[in-house]
Amino acid sequence: MNTQTYNFSAGPAILPREVLKDIKKDFLNWNNIGTSVIEISHRSREFSVIVNNLENSLRDLLNISDQYAVLFLQGGARGQFSAIPMNLLSSKDSADYINSGYWSQQSMLEAKKYCLVDNINVQKMENSTKYILEMKNWKINKKSIYMHYCPNETIEGIAIHEEPNFENKIIIGDFSSYLLSRSIDINKYDLIYASAQKNIGPAGMTVVIIKKNLLTKNNPFLPSILDYKKNFFSQSMFNTPVTFSWYVSSLVLEWMQKKGGIKYFEKINKKKSKLLYQKIDSSEFYNNNIHVNNRSDMNITFNIYDHKLDNLFVQEAHLRGLKFLKGHKVIGGFRASTYNAMPIEGIYQLTEFMTYFEKKFG
Ligand SMILES: *Cc1c(COP(=O)(O)O)cnc(C)c1O
Repeated sequence: MNTQTYNFSAGPAILPREVLKDIKKDFLNWNNIGTSVIEISHRSREFSVIVNNLENSLRDLLNISDQYAVLFLQGGARGQFSAIPMNLLSSKDSADYINSGYWSQQSMLEAKKYCLVDNINVQKMENSTKYILEMKNWKINKKSIYMHYCPNETIEGIAIHEEPNFENKIIIGDFSSYLLSRSIDINKYDLIYASAQKNIGPAGMTVVIIKKNLLTKNNPFLPSILDYKKNFFSQSMFNTPVTFSWYVSSLVLEWMQKKGGIKYFEKINKKKSKLLYQKIDSSEFYNNNIHVNNRSDMNITFNIYDHKLDNLFVQEAHLRGLKFLKGHKVIGGFRASTYNAMPIEGIYQLTEFMTYFEKKFG
């Protein structure tokens, strides 16, 4: 019987075991300073090592140039749903919101409070297969201030891997479950953001990578805590940051660098998702109806045709150490989140279990 546990939670999600062990080892006496890292000032000389590592590692991994500011904020991705329109436009302006699933809809609903919104639905269905319209067919409004989209819909497991190429348009992306999973060209974006608890670290911190030329706007009613310019000039310390999340995230990024950076993770992430999709596609028992071009490498969703078996599948998987496979409540079924910290062994265990379960109940 397998005793190792594999955590497929969508977020807060799995973190590298090595990193967690180091945190445990260092917790009561971090860097020999006689206290834990969460008991010291964010402005101390000791903590500044973490601050520098965090930003430098992220810039290094994603190849972020000096044209961009990197901010570490609070309020999650949902905080950014409000911060973006509040920073970048006024109530008379319009913005394009690409609608590809749950989270892009949520960001659009929030933006509607602050501006006019073009709802551009790009999720289509053909022969009971879901797919996303190619970007060249997206009907972007020339007058809109920016275009917002979500490259990986965490709940549905539907992804847009194509990178944007629109002239004279500010491009904004919710990269919460996509950032650091594969290489991207940062220069194609004006603002991307991601909450930490998917693929970066513990919940609390939100990464915002923003082109510096967007830091000029001045809206007198903008809450200071959401103000990109204020946060930039105070090195993301306008208020007290979530020091624990910064600390752990800096260790996760360092771990990624040591392993071989984005290239390494992109390769292994594709291998992991391929194994799972092959398992699903090769069976008459499991099903995923997303077009191969739009399948997520991070959140692999699937169903059993006979929904009466749903609870049993999750229970039996749980007993074998395969945890948190239940799909999000808005769509049901199953979801295996396979972020960077998920080792390929976890995928072997899961596909083996799926074979066993199908044999027994199929
Ligand atoms: C998880 C998630 C969110 C919500 O993040 P919070 O930090 O809870 O606000 C938003 N967008 C995407 C794509 C997500 O995966």
